[in-house]
Amino acid sequence: IESKFPNTSESIFSIMSKMANDHDAINLSQGFPNFESDPVLIEMVHKAMVDGHNQYAPMPGDLKLRQAIVHKIEHLYGKKYNEHTEVTITAGATQAIFCALAAILSKGDEVIIFTPAYDCYEPTIQLFGARSVPIQLKPPFFQPDWEEVAEKITERTKMIIINTPHNPSGMLFNEEDMIALQELSEKHDLVVVSDEVYEHIIFDGYAHQSASKFPQLAERCFITASFGKTFHNTGWKMGYCIAPETLMNEFRKVHQYNVFCVNHPVQKALATYLEEPSRYLQLSDFYQQKRDYFLSLLTESRFKIVPAKGTYFQLLDYSRISSERDIEFAERLTKDHKLATIPTSVFNTLDEDFKQIRVCFAKTEETLKRAAELLNTL
Ligand code: PMP
Ligand code: GLN
Repeated sequence: IESKFPNTSESIFSIMSKMANDHDAINLSQGFPNFESDPVLIEMVHKAMVDGHNQYAPMPGDLKLRQAIVHKIEHLYGKKYNEHTEVTITAGATQAIFCALAAILSKGDEVIIFTPAYDCYEPTIQLFGARSVPIQLKPPFFQPDWEEVAEKITERTKMIIINTPHNPSGMLFNEEDMIALQELSEKHDLVVVSDEVYEHIIFDGYAHQSASKFPQLAERCFITASFGKTFHNTGWKMGYCIAPETLMNEFRKVHQYNVFCVNHPVQKALATYLEEPSRYLQLSDFYQQKRDYFLSLLTESRFKIVPAKGTYFQLLDYSRISSERDIEFAERLTKDHKLATIPTSVFNTLDEDFKQIRVCFAKTEETLKRAAELLNTL
């Protein structure tokens, strides 16, 4: 058969995690914690199963969980969504992004993305016959250039996808960025997808600028989120999407035939677990300690480092160490030095050679210490 994705290959996360296993390397590549989710939450899932919540959940998700999400967003960002019509529980943020794009994009549409871009955006855009229009974020700070965005908007532009806090750079969209996005998307009548999976991992006293804080932006925006990132259980693949009713209606038309609904006992458990806000509000401190600990071990290294402002990723610029392209450098690091990382060029659509690798610091101190020792030998 003729492939619908002739240029798409295995995801870099699968490639690097496999390479890490094959070479017995420390795996700082794929983004997941190497410590356990809270046993209290695990017990809540168990209880939900014992209590008999083992059949289909309602299509948009458990109502109590949707209410908890609405409550959280109102408390943190001041916007009140409707739990009946504006929230849907999904199989991770990936499925939320898929449904949002499926609901909106048609053949010939253009979608502005900021590269380096999370790997699922581009193939999903292509699947619906649309085309991505990349805006390259440039090191060391990776801030968006809104004049360039304005220049790249055409008659065919239907959507802009943003990701803040940004994977892989750890950059945050600030208030001015969100206002610029709001103005442009209103002016050109664009739909926005705001991928906010790292909303609770923000450092150095910065505030997360959720799209929900900007009223005219929120009116045209799907916001996607991931419980896996927040509660250390990426393998559960649970997340959600919020959007105004008109957009959410279209989203649900896809969602109901894509999966119909997602894991019921986990939804029940999350609904109860979310009742205690400290469970997500402490996450920034938790990860800032890890970032600071890890970077304190690298002060003498030859990597150039701009501390991440959010996410659990840190970019390391290796231009003082090697002139290799990042894919070769990352491969050599895994095979010869037993440390797996992510070469960031795979998230760029343009052929840029920025000499940056991404490490995930959602790891125990012991793992971070061993990784830093290896990095310090380079
Ligand atoms: N968006 C970004 C920016 C991510 O880093 C990830 C990876 N977790 C996702 C979406 C997908 O999240 P999930 O695992 O919940 O599908
Ligand atoms: N979001 C994770 C990362 O950026 C990976 C998720 C996946 O493996 N698809 O590392």
